[in-house]
Amino acid sequence: MTDASEHAFSTEVQEADAPGALGQAAELLAQGQLVALPTETVYGLAADARSPEAVARIFEAKGRPAGNPLIVHIDSVEMAEGCVAAWPRAAAQLAGAFWPGPLSLVLPKADSIPDIVTAGGKTVAVRCPAHPVFSAVLAKCGFPLAAPSANRSNRVSPTRAEHVVDQLGGRIPLVLDGGACDIGIESTVLDLTGDTPTLLRPGMILLGQLQAVLGQVATAKPPAAAEPLKSPGQLQQHYSPRAKLILVEGNLDVVLGQADVMVHVIARTAAPPAWASERWHRLPDSAGDFARELYDTLHRCDRLGAETILVQPLPDGDEWAALRDRLNRAAEV
Ligand code: AMP
Ligand code: MG
Repeated sequence: MTDASEHAFSTEVQEADAPGALGQAAELLAQGQLVALPTETVYGLAADARSPEAVARIFEAKGRPAGNPLIVHIDSVEMAEGCVAAWPRAAAQLAGAFWPGPLSLVLPKADSIPDIVTAGGKTVAVRCPAHPVFSAVLAKCGFPLAAPSANRSNRVSPTRAEHVVDQLGGRIPLVLDGGACDIGIESTVLDLTGDTPTLLRPGMILLGQLQAVLGQVATAKPPAAAEPLKSPGQLQQHYSPRAKLILVEGNLDVVLGQADVMVHVIARTAAPPAWASERWHRLPDSAGDFARELYDTLHRCDRLGAETILVQPLPDGDEWAALRDRLNRAAEV
């Protein structure tokens, strides 16, 4: 698919530790331009969160629907408090326990945050990222940065600079390359605006960890397809590779017997003897390591021309919940 914005820029990729790279990023952001930056979760596509014009460029570059709100990134509780209309005790406790880190808090928004950031809603998601490059750029800017994942809408989030260039090359002026992301999947999103804190998106800050701090935490049910959305951020979003992704139920061997050469497999076990090794992607058996490698593996399957990706079922348990969520959303239904 092409459109007018696709070749508006010749995208520069800078090593984040190259002299002047952080300053160049901050300068572009201060001018209302977009910069892709590493975070510990996935690469983010950042813009000045105070500027509706700058934030509009995010939606345009990603092809993101206007109804899907952005997370605002801050580098201190003080900066977070400038983005929200209330800072409840639960927010202070969670920030103390998990910031900087992969937890986004949904709170009533302050007037300083333009409506386009929150998709017209009265709430805003704020997060303090734990990546030295993102923190350094925030410190140079001194203003909050709206940053969704730096991919085209509905595609797999980038965990390396080259994934960003694959999807947004020609659409943005600068990518800072900070290497591979440590967490590898998007942040946990927790809504603190209702009577009970509610998990909107699972992540690697686990439900059990939130409950240990807050006591009761509810989990949001995704709305049925035909049901009108009560709030933004409830979209049944897909995080899909180009290939058709199938979660295998039951015995993987039975499905493999019928598989052709365009089929790739993601599993935590070794390939059967006759299976072509370049189409077998063995991921680690611990949830944290699996998360770190998953999106890179999905991007690699796409690059290798996979038509179908078979994924071995994941274990039960809290630490795999976010991975089950992402794979369920990526799967063909
Ligand atoms: P991304 O940064 O691309 O992973 O997308 C940001 C996600 O954060 C959205 O898709 C929502 O799930 C969530 N989000 C951001 N702002 C809000 C909000 N105000 N209310 C509920 N969810 C939000
Ligand atoms: Mg995203």
